Amino acid sequence: MSVLQVENVRKEYDDVLAVEDASFTVEDGEFVSILGPSGSGKSTMLRMVAGFESPTSGDIRINGENVVGVPSFERDTNMVFQNLALFPHLTVAENIAFGLKRRGVGREEREKRIEDILEVVELSGYGDRDIDQMSGGEQQRIALARAIVNEPSIILLDEPLASLDRKLRQHMKFELQRIQEETGITFLYVTHDQEVAMSISDRMVILNEGQIEQKGSVQDIYDRP
Ligand code: ADP
Ligand code: ADP
Repeated sequence: MSVLQVENVRKEYDDVLAVEDASFTVEDGEFVSILGPSGSGKSTMLRMVAGFESPTSGDIRINGENVVGVPSFERDTNMVFQNLALFPHLTVAENIAFGLKRRGVGREEREKRIEDILEVVELSGYGDRDIDQMSGGEQQRIALARAIVNEPSIILLDEPLASLDRKLRQHMKFELQRIQEETGITFLYVTHDQEVAMSISDRMVILNEGQIEQKGSVQDIYDRP
């Protein structure tokens, strides 16, 4: 069964048709990118999967269950926002623990999971630091750790590398790839950066003016004669 099934999804805002009849799937352990120019409907699509917006029509299934109408916090998804949305007055570990506490994970288990995830993002020993002591790239990894630690079925990434300079972006791209290989987590990644999308994705969904122009593996899309 697919982790995510988007079926004939349409989204209208007043007089704007943001997404038109879009269908695609994401399988367990895949890294899928939604690529397209600004205004093509990428964020709208991601926000509908996350539950911050409702489609005008169509279905969104997570592990087979239709989640249209299910609030964001009850969905088995975690979003990494472009601005990261870390809590500046909490430590690194407190930031990562936030969702776990809300889900009622006990203290001992939280500590273990936080230690494990800090290792995955190569920030072991930084749990007690304040967020504002951490660099941009480190904060990026903390936001990622906060999403991964909840073990959602799918992690939604909204242009998470857009604000980084080229060198850091390249580094984070490798980090993401390594983390995905290590954890087998499923990622849906929104970007307008074709180079990053091509190098990191198992499959891609290319949006243009709200419509899916192409979808398939990177090879299918770019190497076909
Ligand atoms: P992208 O993420 O690819 O830049 P968006 O999903 O943000 O595209 O936007 C797709 C279209 O929907 C654009 O025309 C945008 O102006 C419009 N749109 C997005 N959000 C809203 C909103 N809340 N209200 C009205 N129009 C919106
Ligand atoms: P509480 O509010 O429950 O007393 P704290 O505010 O001390 O917890 O910490 C928040 C969460 O971060 C807790 O789950 C705690 O176990 C964890 N934590 C705090 N410091 C570290 C650290 N250095 N390494 C790993 N986990 C930590």
